[in-house]
Amino acid sequence: MSTIFTKIINGEIPATIVYRDELVTAFKDINPAAPVHILIVPNKEIATVNDLTEEDERMAGRMLLAAGKLAAQEGIAESGYRLIINCNHDGGQEVYHLHMHLLGGRRLGRMVAR
Ligand code: 5GP
Repeated sequence: MSTIFTKIINGEIPATIVYRDELVTAFKDINPAAPVHILIVPNKEIATVNDLTEEDERMAGRMLLAAGKLAAQEGIAESGYRLIINCNHDGGQEVYHLHMHLLGGRRLGRMVAR
């Protein structure tokens, strides 16, 4: 069974897609935590960071490059932003299809609640 993010990438579930290339797709988060909240997702299903292999090196680099491009596109490159990848239970991961959050457009709080 494919993940909800694969369904978005394949156009089976609607989402606001803001970037797409042969390795990654980015779309707006359905429940934004900041004025800019975009998810950058590998087109290939990879559950978590723990499941990355050396074969995924290009794709993993592409996630970061896409984040930089999107930050510029959204006008937050200079004001600043945060990139987050949650992994497994303690990391707060909810969707088991690797994704990077791009958050910005306001002053974000502390990185981790104490
Ligand atoms: P996680 O907690 O796994 O790092 O983040 C999952 C993110 O996916 C959450 O911020 C959540 O709002 C977002 N999300 C979950 N389901 C959907 C969906 O169907 N569409 C979109 N656009 N975002 C989703």
